[in-house]
Amino acid sequence: MIYADNAATTGMTPHAVDAMVPFLAEQYGNPSSLYSFGQESKEALEDARARIAACLGADPREITFTSGGSEADNQAIVTGAAIGARKGKKHIISTAFEHHAVLHTLKALEKEGYEVTLLDVHKNGVVTPEQVAEAIREDTCLVTIMYANNEIGTIQPIKEIGAVCREKGVLFHTDAVQAAGHVHIDVKDQNIDMLSLSAHKFHGPRGIGVLYAKRGIMLRNLIYGGAQERGKRAGTENVAAIMGMAAALEESCSNIDVNAKHMTAMRDRLIEGLDKIPYAELNGDRERRLPGNVNFCFEGIEGESLLLLLDDKGICASSGSACTSGSLDPSHVLLAIGRPHEVAHGSLRLTIGEDITEDQIDYMIGAVDEVVTYLRNMSPFWRDLTVGKRVHMFAE
Ligand SMILES: *Cc1c(COP(=O)(O)O)cnc(C)c1O
Repeated sequence: MIYADNAATTGMTPHAVDAMVPFLAEQYGNPSSLYSFGQESKEALEDARARIAACLGADPREITFTSGGSEADNQAIVTGAAIGARKGKKHIISTAFEHHAVLHTLKALEKEGYEVTLLDVHKNGVVTPEQVAEAIREDTCLVTIMYANNEIGTIQPIKEIGAVCREKGVLFHTDAVQAAGHVHIDVKDQNIDMLSLSAHKFHGPRGIGVLYAKRGIMLRNLIYGGAQERGKRAGTENVAAIMGMAAALEESCSNIDVNAKHMTAMRDRLIEGLDKIPYAELNGDRERRLPGNVNFCFEGIEGESLLLLLDDKGICASSGSACTSGSLDPSHVLLAIGRPHEVAHGSLRLTIGEDITEDQIDYMIGAVDEVVTYLRNMSPFWRDLTVGKRVHMFAE
């Protein structure tokens, strides 16, 4: 099997598993308990917090543990909204191609009287600092823009966008779930006020994440209860998962450069190979993208059938995001970069892992080529294109 769906989730490394095991079994003390058995868990927890902070250029007091990326996004956005409301500012800026954890939180806030501006995304999958500067108003309280897109892998000019927000005195949150552990992040240098990450996207466990919030930002609770996480996120801490996350983040951050070098080479080989298929186009900028992300549209194809046939060939791939598969709507990300509905349906996302080999890349190129040809030969839509009843959207 070739696992090429690392944007959906990743497998844990042995290092991350090893870091968890003691806290699942013998070291089960509750960090809130006063006896030393509990305090040992507390010490491990705080050590993990410090190590995670160090990976981001943050202070440990700025790190809050959450149940994952979705919760961190929700909490960051309602925090920005609540801070704004106190000053009578209820305008939020985001983009059309955010993850649903962001978009649906914004939808909920709209129902509570907030106004949301979703910036258009350029054809290459990038939003510019100029667009952000233009959209900021007197009553803007929050800008939330993702670091790297989960479908097309494009990386945003985060430092520059952060600088614009800082200059205008507007809070800046970034959903860095796809970026953390894959590209270098420094929250201070990059002018980031709040940042979300999730362990299972960098070979840590599922169900654990982090919200970084710059000192001075009073987080708004999503979950009320005990005094855990300085009272800002109640519930007995998942110490084992936190230990696994810290180990995975340290491991991936210390290997970013080596991993990126290998994966970028493999990614570019895959892009080059798939580019040879007629009437196919890469989605998102070729350079400004995550080292592991390849996303193509093929004319005359249904993404779903493509995935099933690739599964038969032992390839785990995706079309659109996991949340939208099963629905008939094409990906909102592909529509945001201007792909027409017919083409957006025929998309394929291959997100490779660090250990991918050249042979596996070549196998995938062959398999996709074969499956695309097979599906096109059966498609009435494709026949219309070939006989000239419809016009091609892509060059051959
Ligand atoms: C996966 C993902 C999320 C959600 O993270 P979970 O930990 O699964 O809740 C949010 N944003 C982006 C960009 C993601 O890729």
